[in-house]
Amino acid sequence: MEAPDTLREAIIWFADFEHCRQFMMSLRWPDGIVRCPRCNSEKVFWIAKERVWKCYGKHNHAKFSLKTGTVLEDSPIGLEKWLPAAWLILCCKNGISSYELHRDLGVTQKSAWFMLHRLRLGMQDGGIIEKIGGKGAHVEVDESFIGGKARNMHKDVKARRIQGRTGVEGKAIVAAVLERGGKIRAKVVERRKKKDLQAFVREHVEAKSNLYSDALKSYEGLDGEFVHQVIDHAIAYVDGAVHTNNAENFWSLLKRSINGTYVSVEPYHLFRYVDEQAWRYNHRKDENDEPLNDVQRFVIGMRQIVGKRLTYAELTGKVQNKQSAMRPA
Ligand SMILES: [Zn+2]
Repeated sequence: MEAPDTLREAIIWFADFEHCRQFMMSLRWPDGIVRCPRCNSEKVFWIAKERVWKCYGKHNHAKFSLKTGTVLEDSPIGLEKWLPAAWLILCCKNGISSYELHRDLGVTQKSAWFMLHRLRLGMQDGGIIEKIGGKGAHVEVDESFIGGKARNMHKDVKARRIQGRTGVEGKAIVAAVLERGGKIRAKVVERRKKKDLQAFVREHVEAKSNLYSDALKSYEGLDGEFVHQVIDHAIAYVDGAVHTNNAENFWSLLKRSINGTYVSVEPYHLFRYVDEQAWRYNHRKDENDEPLNDVQRFVIGMRQIVGKRLTYAELTGKVQNKQSAMRPA
């Protein structure tokens, strides 16, 4: 076996620490030169017994591991568990729950929950997010109510979390724009008012795109910038090219993962699950429209874990994470 193709092979392959080390090095230092993450010096040496490098530079924290400077930093859990966990969340269509991971890898459910959230941070696209569509492209816009576990929540928590949402009680609203044959952008929105939904469309879709939506009034007024056509679901679901079926497919995937796999997602964390599902959707195919296989998806996803951090305190809302500060709660 040169490299793993399936989850089963990945578990066997990464049971050997040297394979984990080679893999992580290829992610971190693609040119093969190990550099200190603190001072960028190449003058470092590997301490095999401790599984760390030591930098000769004169600074604190001269030792660094394969996990330093990634979402895995400071985790006591070994790479032989982290890498299969990452494989699961990056490649399973419906995601993987902390309970499944807890049973599969022999870590506590709490650890598994934290592991999955760190990996989800990796799956979030950082920096400038490219617009989708363009002249001649076909883009669907839609919104959906997600969740509905609010009735099980404590009264105060419930009031705090769903306050201001005009949706069905206890459900959050997720908006999505999706280019047919291309990528999706999805986001938790406060309300499904014109202001919110149109701002979302303008932020993520190139002007002049063909835009398809249902007859929700909030979408009225987009036909100046877009070639906007409406399908009134009270009359029909499809009228030639005018439909939102691809968006509907995304909602069913998202709902299957949230209601089936992740039985108790709190609205506070919902955006992380939305990003996770959108990431998998956006990595079905490569730039040339060729389907990606699991190992390719795994490598792309793992490259995104570098340069990010998520502490437990940030995750549980005790302190704010810079990377998620801009995200809706
Ligand atoms: Zn250094």
